[in-house]
Amino acid sequence: MNNHVTVLEIDGKALEHNLHHFKKKLKPTTKILAVVKAFSYGSDDVLVAQFLQDKIDYFAVAYAHEGVALREATIQKPILVLHPQIANLQTVIDYCLEPNLYSFEILNAFLQMAKENSLTAYPVHLKFNTGLNRLGFLPSDVPKIIDELRGNQHVKIQSLFSHLVASEDLNESVFTHRQIESFKNIVQEFDAFLTYKPILHISNTSGTINYPEAQFDMVRIGIGLYGFGNDAIETSQLKNTHNLVSIISQIHEIEPGNSVGYNRAFISTKKTRSATIPIGHADGISRALGNAKGFVTINHQKAPILGNVCMDMIMVDVTNIDCKEGDTAIIFNHQKTIQELADAAGTITYEILTGISHRVKKVLKD
Ligand SMILES: *Cc1c(COP(=O)(O)O)cnc(C)c1O
Repeated sequence: MNNHVTVLEIDGKALEHNLHHFKKKLKPTTKILAVVKAFSYGSDDVLVAQFLQDKIDYFAVAYAHEGVALREATIQKPILVLHPQIANLQTVIDYCLEPNLYSFEILNAFLQMAKENSLTAYPVHLKFNTGLNRLGFLPSDVPKIIDELRGNQHVKIQSLFSHLVASEDLNESVFTHRQIESFKNIVQEFDAFLTYKPILHISNTSGTINYPEAQFDMVRIGIGLYGFGNDAIETSQLKNTHNLVSIISQIHEIEPGNSVGYNRAFISTKKTRSATIPIGHADGISRALGNAKGFVTINHQKAPILGNVCMDMIMVDVTNIDCKEGDTAIIFNHQKTIQELADAAGTITYEILTGISHRVKKVLKD
């Protein structure tokens, strides 16, 4: 028994199953980059990276400090930092992280730093904005980038990449194909200049599912590793990796007319049994799930949240559930529940997962 009662169990077998699911869709030579940003989607980036590192080719994180944490945990695989800032480029170099260079400002800052650090052929990644309008060079920037890099021995273009806007939405397939074509044109321009072949990649999870022809040399799998495809059918072929469980700390009998929780948001109209669970909005249970929008599962039955979600606790209705203090309360252990909670909170499964806070103890079971 560990002394944290609320635990996120990361299912290693499920991770492996999901990885295999995507591998089967790909050519044997296509590399897999595992996206482990945001603590591996609200779980534990170090545990997940340690588990996956000999099964994949690359890792990606959003920020430099996330990459530092992986290196400090002795992760050896290449780590692409998707969104570095000029202020942390020295950290990127010190920890052998590979920066995405997405503007002339950051490209030139890195070239300067690569020179000062006497680096040779340091791997950098160039990102192109083919429609997301978030981060990246424009396709029309290519000639100028080539000019800046001509004869430069300090860096090498490890990869060229872009990101799809709506790969999950087949209604936007015309736009997606336009992005893919734009990316191919960019690649051609580099081909004429480079004497080596950078890794090419454009697809995230749903791109990998919907546009297998756009797998290029590598795919970047995030949410798919954690059990979600673009639709219910694909998701049903994946396994849930994030299992969030807690226990019943205390049970209260609420007389009619009495209230539960802050602001008396729940007032009982009949005799009600309420169970207190040690998990709250500071752990990732959104306040939007209060007042019976969200629920936990106790002895296979749904127990709706009574009143407001507190910072450290929720109270749930167990009037009709046979249970006692110390019993297990499952927040979620299946994609279906995560989807239900996302719908109830007016958000997406990504946010339910990444919302699981740092305070929740994480363990990986394989
Ligand atoms: C987060 C992210 C991914 C992973 O996306 P999923 O939809 O979770 O697979 C891939 N590429 C980039 C650039 C990202 O920011």
